[in-house]
Amino acid sequence: MYKRSSALFTEAKKYIPGGVNSPVRAFNAVGGDPIFIKEAKGAYLYDEDGNELIDYINSWGPMILGHAYPPVVNAVIERTKKGTSFGTPTEIETEIAKLAVEMVPGIDQIRMVNSGTEACMSAVRLARGFTKKDKIIKFAGCYHGHSDSFLIQAGSGAVTFGSPNSPGVTQGTAKDTLLATYNDLGSVEALINANKNEIACIILEPVAGNMGCIPPQEGFLEGLRSLCDHNNILLIFDEVMTGFRLSAGGVQERKNISADIVTFGKVIGGGLPVGAFAARQEIMNHLAPLGSVYQAGTLSGNPLAMSAGLAMLQSLKNDPEVFKRLDEKTEYLRDGLVKVLEKNNIDFTINQYGSMLSVHFSNEPVVDFDSAALGNNDYFKRFFHGMLKEGVYIAPSAFETWFITDALTYADLDKTIAAADSVTANW
Ligand code: PMP
Repeated sequence: MYKRSSALFTEAKKYIPGGVNSPVRAFNAVGGDPIFIKEAKGAYLYDEDGNELIDYINSWGPMILGHAYPPVVNAVIERTKKGTSFGTPTEIETEIAKLAVEMVPGIDQIRMVNSGTEACMSAVRLARGFTKKDKIIKFAGCYHGHSDSFLIQAGSGAVTFGSPNSPGVTQGTAKDTLLATYNDLGSVEALINANKNEIACIILEPVAGNMGCIPPQEGFLEGLRSLCDHNNILLIFDEVMTGFRLSAGGVQERKNISADIVTFGKVIGGGLPVGAFAARQEIMNHLAPLGSVYQAGTLSGNPLAMSAGLAMLQSLKNDPEVFKRLDEKTEYLRDGLVKVLEKNNIDFTINQYGSMLSVHFSNEPVVDFDSAALGNNDYFKRFFHGMLKEGVYIAPSAFETWFITDALTYADLDKTIAAADSVTANW
């Protein structure tokens, strides 16, 4: 069924470490060889062996409107004909910045970079420069990219591959990253009290998606906002996954809470390499060339990537119902999965928020990294491979979220639910 994929993987492994350019693409956690994709359209992937798969990864989030979305594809084609990068300012950078500032509450300016990692790394540097303090608080199981300061109890591939604390991160760097427990304000307060006037920022995924999906409990984000306000700490929302996904204005809009700095990635690039960070004027003024916090990029804001991002944001802006549709589709999927897993007597917890969802094979509530880690990985492996055989492609790790796209039809969702039923019927 995957003969050609396996042959391509054997060849790739000779020249690329582990055969992949990002570890999360490997199947180490579930066993087997990764599937090589040839093309994609709408909600479907087509692999090198001619299999058709319903896609719940969607390039790990960007493809919120489905693969090869025509307005994005056309914008990229047209732009490419005129040159892809000049290293000078271009009008389209202002167009997308203006649109992002309109869509996201509480930000005056935005700076484009090339990945979510860069966005978060730069946001933390800006917070340190602004507050003139060094330490940061992050949460176990949250992932903010592979920059040194964040590879401390990191989620996503870092935990899937057994390196939540990566070798190569110096102790000097690690000691400035303080670790709190998601959904536990007490753990944050204790760190603040033990490090008085030393903490520059708290960074978090305001709806976590890198230890599976874990929504913030009632009062958690509000509590963090208030702790930050009382202790001269900046609150950074890493909306790389949630931005332009959970609503036009991300979690800030959905939960009506303002962060001081917000980071973006994934959807904002429409599938091209784009990240961004944004804040109110007073903070952004500290960034070079206005201020002394340095941050730069040869390809940052290049017209090719901006054309994809702009087409994506315009499509979302012009379709106010899209987020409601995404929520409804995800809730339908959640309810269907709950029904069949209950019927088949499986121990499970499904977390869902907006168009993010994850299935944990444990019947404990999943509210933080420790409870996410209780999931039965043998069950997850069986589920993953079973779903794949039925033509449904979910992330090859329990520490990831499913990304729902508007290209999915209710027939696709029904097929997914039926697949989950037949996969778990005889466990
Ligand atoms: N922050 C979050 C919340 C993410 O989910 C990711 C990527 N999964 C990143 C940061 C890093 O983004 P990138 O992979 O584009 O560097």
